[in-house]
Amino acid sequence: MALAHILGYPRIGADRELKRATEAYWKGDLERPGLEAVGRELRARHWQAQRDAGLDLVTVGDFAFYDQVLDVSLLLGAVPPRFGAEREVAEGDIDLDTAFRMARGRAPSGEPAAACEMTKYFDTNYHYLVPELHDGQRFRLASQRLFSEVDEALAAGHAVKVSLLGPLSWLWLGKVKGDDGLDRLSLLDGVLAVYAAVLEELAAQGVEWVQLDEPALVQDLPQAWRQAFESAYSRLARTPVKVLLATYFGGLGDNLTLATGLAVDGLHIDAVRAPEQLTAVIDNLPSYKVLSVGAIDGRNIWRADLAALRERLADARMRLGERLWIAPSCSLLHVPVDLAAETDLDAELKSWLAFARQKLDETVSLARLLDNRPTPDDRARLEAATAALDARSASPRIHRPAVAERLAAVTPADAERASPYPERAHVQRRAFDLPLFPTTTIGSFPQTADIRAARRAFKAGELSQADYTARMREEIAFAVERQNALGIDVPVHGEPERNDMVEYFGEQLDGFAFTRFGWVQSYGSRCVKPPVIYGDVARPQPMTVAWSEYAQSLTDKPMKGMLTGPVTILQWSFVRDDQPRERTCRQIALALRDEVADLERAGIRIIQIDEPALREGLPLRQAEWQSYLDWAVTSFKLSAAVAEDATQIHTHMCYSEFNDIIASIAALDADVITIETSRSDMELLDAFQDFAYPNEIGPGVYDIHSPNIPDVAWMVQLMEKALDKIPAERLWVNPDCGLKTRGWAEVEPALAGMVEAARELRRQH
Ligand code: GLN
Ligand code: ZN
Repeated sequence: MALAHILGYPRIGADRELKRATEAYWKGDLERPGLEAVGRELRARHWQAQRDAGLDLVTVGDFAFYDQVLDVSLLLGAVPPRFGAEREVAEGDIDLDTAFRMARGRAPSGEPAAACEMTKYFDTNYHYLVPELHDGQRFRLASQRLFSEVDEALAAGHAVKVSLLGPLSWLWLGKVKGDDGLDRLSLLDGVLAVYAAVLEELAAQGVEWVQLDEPALVQDLPQAWRQAFESAYSRLARTPVKVLLATYFGGLGDNLTLATGLAVDGLHIDAVRAPEQLTAVIDNLPSYKVLSVGAIDGRNIWRADLAALRERLADARMRLGERLWIAPSCSLLHVPVDLAAETDLDAELKSWLAFARQKLDETVSLARLLDNRPTPDDRARLEAATAALDARSASPRIHRPAVAERLAAVTPADAERASPYPERAHVQRRAFDLPLFPTTTIGSFPQTADIRAARRAFKAGELSQADYTARMREEIAFAVERQNALGIDVPVHGEPERNDMVEYFGEQLDGFAFTRFGWVQSYGSRCVKPPVIYGDVARPQPMTVAWSEYAQSLTDKPMKGMLTGPVTILQWSFVRDDQPRERTCRQIALALRDEVADLERAGIRIIQIDEPALREGLPLRQAEWQSYLDWAVTSFKLSAAVAEDATQIHTHMCYSEFNDIIASIAALDADVITIETSRSDMELLDAFQDFAYPNEIGPGVYDIHSPNIPDVAWMVQLMEKALDKIPAERLWVNPDCGLKTRGWAEVEPALAGMVEAARELRRQH
């Protein structure tokens, strides 16, 4: 029998119960026992769902009040000294509030301290807390949570498999603090000793299988790390549990024989992202090992093609027999919980989708179909899937011939501006007559409670279109008037009408759908609800022109129009799987291109196309970077290049690493790029200097994440540093990012100081 299991389940709850409970606890509205009860209740419900669906094992260890990587750090006693938890670690029972302080800097009890760094888990939108590593670090089993969760599951009568991030990937994700030269692998022995103790303890509890996640194996690994994998798993092989080594988010590539050869009892591979590796893995797999095939997409929301999968896996079933396990490609953490809650989605679209709960059923049905012992339910599910997929591939909602024709007619010249940057700059200088060090902002102004209430009322039908427009115009007028008073050289309209920089555009484009409860955990209690791109993208009408035009009518300064770029819209959505991402991206680019042309026609001569997600789209393997960057850059240029020479195109990015991709940033050929730099003390500009970046740059002069009002002298001093790297004629003065999370009481003095800093710089240069 092919065994069915999952690598992990979303823990937030179908109604985001975990979010509500943790936030209430942080605020003091819920006591600890209440919070623990919600956790227990969610775990019980999720295990029961797995069992009800017919999975052979339920997965324990995927629950976390904040983050599963943090929980492994706690298990290992890796708590930085500033949290003062030495006694808790020594006693082997770290308190939940210590975990929350590591995650958020503060908790209902304990002294506040600087929170641990947070960053994206591989190429997902899930953020984990970065383990802090240091020379001489000691590890000890310091948390009992995992074991009590196992007891809970066993007490409920479940067949338990434990899942845990593996030791190498934990170290791989960790960051050395202080001594830069420290080799993370020098800490491996200490880490392994604790993992061995954990596995012993789990065995004593009666656990047979432990899934250790090692997604680092789908990345480029230095030789020393590959060797470390071998020795580490040989060490863990001496423990009494069976280890299932889980890899996901890509193919094993040059780590394939390493992975199949490790001293473990089973291997899980991602057969969605990398179906081609299946045969080679089976060829190399020793005959005593189990192979768990990740066949159901854990990263996307499309219904699985059960008939096609049955066919594709028939050979694996024959060759592996009972050694074949079936699973989703990765943890279901990355998809929404339950499609059944989407009562507003039309039936056709809904029939094309599967969320976590539905993916349990798909996994079980696929396993039973492969075993040739389908139940009537499995047969019905197979038929329904085939019918839905046939309908989907033929649906006129998906295929718009006009979009395909337009895409086919695109030529390389369409992605190029009429003249090269130096000529454009010349024309633009005459057109705008801006001072040296022009000042601008990144787009959004404070999203006040008032604005959000108006948007909610409008969506609920309690505010008429006319009243809503009038309300937003009021906000725009206020923002423009404030900027005029402050003396900002290139004002913006302030984006009051935008709930979210992707959703706002998705809602106006054909080919996008929105769920009501399609929440996915982003970090801690924060969830996002990505749009679903299901069909060819087209723009039925202008999306931003009326707002920008109105804003321009209120000032003599050049009003900057504001768009979200094609790569960012793609990156922050669930993307259709029936055509390459590249193609979807180009479709979005063409829709934005029309918007740029319409803005220009309406008299908007400065247009910003935000691409904050350009870098995070980088593939996990470096060998694939260039082809991604090529189409990403082309997409951006396709949307921008329709602009005349005299129209100035800006872009904005806010992440902290440009070295790897500086050539592609330059290739975007935006007239101006604004970036986040203040927290790095302008060091991020080095990449631009070293590359001799040719166009204009606005290095952020203050951190918008902080409520503090930046000091004028400090901003001037930062710009002096920028001047060491970039000539004055090509520098702009602006904040790090948009201001929507701030209040006007902070924004006004901060921008007044920024304008003052620019004036000071003009006096000096
Ligand atoms: N224009 C957007 C804003 O100011 C940019 C947001 C972002 O870079 N994440 O809000
Ligand atoms: Zn930004």
